Amino acid sequence: MLPLPNQIVTYSPAYTLVPTYECFNKCTYCNFRSDIGSHPWMTLEQAEKILLSLKGQGICEILILSGEVHPLSSRRQEWLDLIYDLCLLALSMGFLPHTNAGILSFSEMQRLKNVNASMGLMLEQLNPKLLHTVHRHAPSKIPELRLQHLQWAGELQIPFTTGLLLGIGENEDDRRQTLMAIADLHLKYQNIQEVILQPHSPGSQQTFDEVAFDPYQLPQVIAQAREILPSDITIQIPPNLVPEENWLLACLDAGARDLGGIGPRDEVNPDYPHREVNRLREVLLSAGWTLLPRLPVYQRTHSVLGAMAFS
Ligand code: SF4
Repeated sequence: MLPLPNQIVTYSPAYTLVPTYECFNKCTYCNFRSDIGSHPWMTLEQAEKILLSLKGQGICEILILSGEVHPLSSRRQEWLDLIYDLCLLALSMGFLPHTNAGILSFSEMQRLKNVNASMGLMLEQLNPKLLHTVHRHAPSKIPELRLQHLQWAGELQIPFTTGLLLGIGENEDDRRQTLMAIADLHLKYQNIQEVILQPHSPGSQQTFDEVAFDPYQLPQVIAQAREILPSDITIQIPPNLVPEENWLLACLDAGARDLGGIGPRDEVNPDYPHREVNRLREVLLSAGWTLLPRLPVYQRTHSVLGAMAFS
């Protein structure tokens, strides 16, 4: 018997390729970045080896996640070419790329659109006061730049993922403003597929000395987001950042319907490994939810069939 659409929770079987960890920003909560020049960039040969090893494992999405090379750096073009070539390689091997490489120019996005199924950029929080705290050394985190990026993604009609980072110094009103900005953009361009609500979860590399976002508050934020966001935007939560199973279920009750890309390593939160998909499936099933894989592009009109295509 097919599950009812309102009992379905989706995830994307994914693997993350990192062209480079180097980033010219220094967000204090970051557990991803490395200093410029500290590590060699990924080569196409390395990527091909990894992708070959993923064949037949049910993985569809290749998330290309990169630190940012400064727009005026002499290596910017080389960096963008590498990302483009990685996407092309993934496509040629039967995978669907989804790139999140930080702030891009309109022409850079236009180019990458041709080799991506979907793309993403976290809006995080719009309150500019964060430029004096967690984003003091992160020029890419100027809210206007990020809004501009989302607007260009809309103009280019790129299926898009964005989201909020929770617990980095914002208040409830800040969250509301950020959600409303996403809702406005979607009403105009209709291209936002999902909004991630990512609770700050301290990791071993960060310098931001704050406790984790209280996971018990997450259902409340999800419910607030569900009220503000148009109904065709799916709310996504990273299940590895919600350690208590009861609370994960409470997040679903509040309106979350997607668990994002699940792969061997969460590159953004490497201190928080994912549960096995089968374990997640069991936990959800115990409360009547069916966990199904999905593609990186949502099939709005046939969402159940789209998800079922994997099973
Ligand atoms: S969070 Fe992103 S933009 Fe900020 S330092 Fe880390 S990799 Fe760079």
